Amino acid sequence: MRVNTRLAERLEKVSASVTLAITSGAKKLKAEGVDVISLAAGEPDFDTPDYIKQAAIEAINNGFTKYTPTTGIPELKKAISEKFRRDNSLKYEPNQIVVSCGAKHSIYNALQVLVDKDDEVLMPSPYWVSYPEMVNLCQGVSRFIKTNIESGFKIEVSDLQRHISSKTKVLIINSPSNPTGSVYSGDELRSIAEVCAKRKIFVISDEIYEKLIYQGQKATSIASLKDDIYNLTITVSGLSKSYAMTGWRIGYLGAPQDVSDAISKLQSHSTSCPSSISQKAATAALGGGGDFIEKMVVEFEKRRDFAAGKLDRIPKISYTKPAGAFYIFCNISKSGLDSVNFATRLLEEASVAVVPGVAFGDDNYIRISFATSIEELGKGLDRMASWLK
Ligand code: PMP
Ligand code: GLU
Repeated sequence: MRVNTRLAERLEKVSASVTLAITSGAKKLKAEGVDVISLAAGEPDFDTPDYIKQAAIEAINNGFTKYTPTTGIPELKKAISEKFRRDNSLKYEPNQIVVSCGAKHSIYNALQVLVDKDDEVLMPSPYWVSYPEMVNLCQGVSRFIKTNIESGFKIEVSDLQRHISSKTKVLIINSPSNPTGSVYSGDELRSIAEVCAKRKIFVISDEIYEKLIYQGQKATSIASLKDDIYNLTITVSGLSKSYAMTGWRIGYLGAPQDVSDAISKLQSHSTSCPSSISQKAATAALGGGGDFIEKMVVEFEKRRDFAAGKLDRIPKISYTKPAGAFYIFCNISKSGLDSVNFATRLLEEASVAVVPGVAFGDDNYIRISFATSIEELGKGLDRMASWLK
């Protein structure tokens, strides 16, 4: 039975983003003077580099403050096309690229143009919190392919095959993954690509954490592997994580022409275009800026290892070291608490904010973010260890 007939039915199944709510809740407590340690952040704690800020200031001073073409300014799309070729071995012409208000918006757009009512969307579970909610907004059906800590939270081809039905339209792959930090190898993606190409299943490849990858590894773009999968893939990335630009709201995708044309149509009636000022900043960001990303990755890797060292000494927690992104997905089942109780009590009793795993589809876990200073990370994990005792 419908709960509230004033609102559209498709909203009934949708909940607000838990990650955003916890992160802003922790920021608010801190601003009020509460000694909260937030291990919940879904964004780099680095400042946006100055050369990027400068480009935005110039855009404002030059009056570059009007609507732009729907899919983005030509110079930015050219920079993205070059970035795809250089970093991902992908050939997307500028007219196949759509710039949007964040990678979240790009994924939402892609799902909106691909998924009809009752179409099925496959995704590995644990999944990023927004995927199933976006599928709900399309009135599609999410089908979760369960993964586990033993297999490094990655799907096997046999699991994928078992979940495919006549209604399967899309598979979402997120490598490096939020929340598990898993990274698929080229060979693993090749096997997945073969199945999807054979069954004509679209792939939304969420590569937002592509630069945040450790031990000298490199992320592979599934669309770069073969023509058949290229023609079925929407490759999504953005500037939020790589350039510490979460608030600027610039993400983008490369897609087969018919898909990017459809997304352009959709976007022309929803947001018109992304912010003109942020687009100038993004163009500058992609144009280079020394070794900002490399330095950030070195720092994140240091923090990852530091956090792992602390977690190793907490008997009630098990985890695998993430290969990418900036999260550690920790199994807390030995605590005897579910993830919401764990996170709520940890915040109330020890003033440490983490995200309950239930938001990502697994109630036996919590997500810790190491996008915070070593000092805060150490304090937060020490508090958690004493609290668990
Ligand atoms: N995908 C994943 C897996 C993410 O963690 C995020 C971060 N919010 C996004 C997409 C979207 O990033 P943004 O919209 O800030 O570009
Ligand atoms: N991606 C981040 C996270 O998972 C930011 C929050 C969000 O966009 O939902 O925490």
